[in-house]
Amino acid sequence: MITRHFAFPVTSPGTILRRERDLGTPLGVEADETSKHGGLVSDDIIVRLIEDWLSLHGQNGFVFDGFPRTVKQAERLNEILQKRGTALDLAIWLEVSEETVRDRIASRLQCRRCGFTTSLTSAGFADRPICPYCDGPLIRRDDDAAEVLQTRLAEFKAKTEPLLSVYEKDAALHRVDGNRGREAVFTDIAALIEERVP
Ligand SMILES: [Zn+2]
Repeated sequence: MITRHFAFPVTSPGTILRRERDLGTPLGVEADETSKHGGLVSDDIIVRLIEDWLSLHGQNGFVFDGFPRTVKQAERLNEILQKRGTALDLAIWLEVSEETVRDRIASRLQCRRCGFTTSLTSAGFADRPICPYCDGPLIRRDDDAAEVLQTRLAEFKAKTEPLLSVYEKDAALHRVDGNRGREAVFTDIAALIEERVP
């Protein structure tokens, strides 16, 4: 939605990792092995991939979705931005309750080929689970199983929540209520971006 509205390139670590895996690059293969065995891809690998992506796509503004996710990633991102002579304009903290997370995960579908994400409830994807962009299969993600959720929530509290104090120090941080429909959340995010687009 952001790319369509603002023409900024948007990426997430998951999107980059899937492409590296599909291309069979050494990093992609390594990361895939790690996540297959239930491990988290290391901060180092994620930061290297993000840095590569930035040098290709980051000339005229960019948006990261789900990055940085740890304090270490945030520190490395700051170093990278300093090297590039730029600063973060905006950090959006989507506040979402545990209940919302549960509901969304239970109904999430993702394209195995391109990573497009949607839900069982939208546009009849439950009847015809085919990706509208690449015709790939839309599947429930394996790692969305209920048992994994507890681990992820614990990880979020331990590793991601400390980011709040990092970004609260500068004025970049804005909180958005994510417990609402896509359109309402997007409207708020779009307004925040618009204030900063020259
Ligand atoms: Zn697709």
